[in-house]
Amino acid sequence: MRIENEVTFEDVRDAFLRENDLEDQYNRWGMQAIEIAQEQFGHWRRVILSSEDILGVMLPHHSRCGPEIVPASCSTVAAAIERLKLTPEDDACRKKVEQVSRKDASLIFLSARPIDHPQYPEYQALIQRKYQGLTHLDGLHRLLGWGLSGRSDVVAYVAGLAAGEEADLTGRDQQLR
Ligand SMILES: [Zn+2]
Repeated sequence: MRIENEVTFEDVRDAFLRENDLEDQYNRWGMQAIEIAQEQFGHWRRVILSSEDILGVMLPHHSRCGPEIVPASCSTVAAAIERLKLTPEDDACRKKVEQVSRKDASLIFLSARPIDHPQYPEYQALIQRKYQGLTHLDGLHRLLGWGLSGRSDVVAYVAGLAAGEEADLTGRDQQLR
């Protein structure tokens, strides 16, 4: 992970709204997660993720497309890809991931540790085990798609990342892969 510069919350929100329509309920879920991260951490940095960084991002519980691609205990992108590979080829989540993996790179939103909020129980298992590390806020299917295709140089806005902290936040939780 390469840290580029600090960005304001207004930059983060404007960037999200440029690429996402709030008519979609899942985009509203992402926007609210970003707002909670702003309340919890209060600062953001723009970073460049390598393909390895992407595989190590922690994902929240994900089963809304059908099969449980990320269990309630949460898992990294790498572990979720392994689960995705076990689904049938016409599985909705798998098809969505394959579709977005072919798209141009777009912005990913992360936090340096999980958000802790009653409206986001998907992250609670991480809070309980005091997980510290890059955690998804928005872009789950893209992270899976780009993890699968080995894409690097993906731009992300990260909440709560201190300068010099990047080495401590990638590739943790290896035992869960
Ligand atoms: Zn899905």
